[in-house]
Amino acid sequence: MPSTATEQRQAVRVAARPYALLVEDEAPLVELIRYNLDREGYEIATASDGEEALMMIDERQPDILLLDWMLPKLAGIEVCRRLRGRAATRNLPIIMLTAKAEETDRIRGLDTGADDYMTKPFSMSELSARIRAVMRRIRPALAEDRVVIGDISVDRSAHRVTRNDVEVHLGPTEFRLLDYFIQHPGRVFSREQLLDAVWGSDVYVETRTVDVHIGRLRKALLKGGGEDPIRTVRSAGYSLNAG
Ligand code: CA
Repeated sequence: MPSTATEQRQAVRVAARPYALLVEDEAPLVELIRYNLDREGYEIATASDGEEALMMIDERQPDILLLDWMLPKLAGIEVCRRLRGRAATRNLPIIMLTAKAEETDRIRGLDTGADDYMTKPFSMSELSARIRAVMRRIRPALAEDRVVIGDISVDRSAHRVTRNDVEVHLGPTEFRLLDYFIQHPGRVFSREQLLDAVWGSDVYVETRTVDVHIGRLRKALLKGGGEDPIRTVRSAGYSLNAG
């Protein structure tokens, strides 16, 4: 089981945290939400207007979007409508944030396709609970500690993987790769996307490094027998069979 010093450092730094994008133009609320979600283990990015939000989502799709209703440049409801009109973001979990005075628009907001609605002021524990509920409904793999895909079972908090009840030993990078795949079973990822998600976009790693670690992950998963769960998609990348 290869485990270099670099890998160990990365394991401490990254644990495939769910990525939340907060779109809000009230700075104090941004800081409050950012602080709390960071503590709960989310990776969090922020945008302060609707246009910036759409650009950021084009670059990297969040696991959950917290979207203020009243925003400069492009209103939250319009951002929501546009995201729902695109195939790539049709199922993106969205929670709208709104001021009390705008509550009459509540139904309109949900008609637009938001998954849930929070009326300001709200408590951070209430927001966290709603986020978890939405994520559990839409992306079960992101909210649960124990995930089962086919004959593979991953205990995310214990960093333990079994296949057909036989323990699979993985290095930290292989674990993060698998953890990322199980969040999006069946979806094909390019080497560049895997690098960004698993190694982080601020780390310089050659794309063939991904092939090396995929090879190790595949070998470890095949040890106990069974079919190869990782599909190589020629000139595109890799995906985990949905089971
Ligand atoms: Ca606002």
